[in-house]
Amino acid sequence: MENQASPAQRTSDLPRISLVIPVYNEEENLLDLVREIRPVLDPLGQSYEILLIDDGSTDRSLQVMRDAAQEHSPVRFIAFEANRGQSAAFVAGFSEAKGELVITMDADLQNDPADIPAMLRLYDQGYDMVIGWRAKRKDTWFKRIGSKIGNGFRNRLTGEQVHDTGCSLKIMRREMTLKLPRFNGMHRFLPTLMKMEGARVAEIKVNHRPRTRGVSKYTNWQRAMVGFSDVLGVRWLGKRHFDYAIRERGGHGH
Ligand code: UDP
Ligand code: MG
Repeated sequence: MENQASPAQRTSDLPRISLVIPVYNEEENLLDLVREIRPVLDPLGQSYEILLIDDGSTDRSLQVMRDAAQEHSPVRFIAFEANRGQSAAFVAGFSEAKGELVITMDADLQNDPADIPAMLRLYDQGYDMVIGWRAKRKDTWFKRIGSKIGNGFRNRLTGEQVHDTGCSLKIMRREMTLKLPRFNGMHRFLPTLMKMEGARVAEIKVNHRPRTRGVSKYTNWQRAMVGFSDVLGVRWLGKRHFDYAIRERGGHGH
């Protein structure tokens, strides 16, 4: 399978699907991640790219990405000069991606690519966004409690009913992602922010696996500290956000 032309290469068209995967010190996970994704995506017959975003890793992640791009034709990567955070990596991925839709996921193998086909089927029923819900979360008790409190608080203050905004496994219409506001932590509010852009959002239960290699990049305390002001910011944005529809265009050049 390694040297086969990918569906993305066989046609000169742009890929339909861009996987957008932020990476911060995940050297031990990256090759297995690509090896897990390909057998799921290849048989779907839809062109795709695997876009890895190196968020300033200090381990060998970037070298592993270079090797992966040599060996696996759907793989592309960009590398930040320095660590800018998961939100920045997602945003850079959205603007770099070529697909009509983006599929976001973590690089540490906690998300399961096997969930993607069902998510795509749901997306194709007429949604702009499909979000994963890690119903059986494989994290420490402490992290699960932290996440429950975070989700409850976020939902209450932003008028939302999302079970699990922290699940990275999501599908989004790419052109909508380009309008999202840029701030650290925005990736935890993607359903709310996408709805502000008019997105129809569906939720689906997905598998979750324990992290077996590398370490988590977050603590509850870090998340809680910034989370509170972020929730107030998104609540404010929801009240002040505007939209407009164009009735007519005129003049030369249209
Ligand atoms: N990540 C990143 N930049 C950061 C922190 C994390 O790109 O500054 C990536 C990380 O490599 C992983 C994903 O974001 O692919 C989720 O991070 P992590 O697994 O540490 O979060 P947890 O699952 O513990 O909540
Ligand atoms: Mg993780």
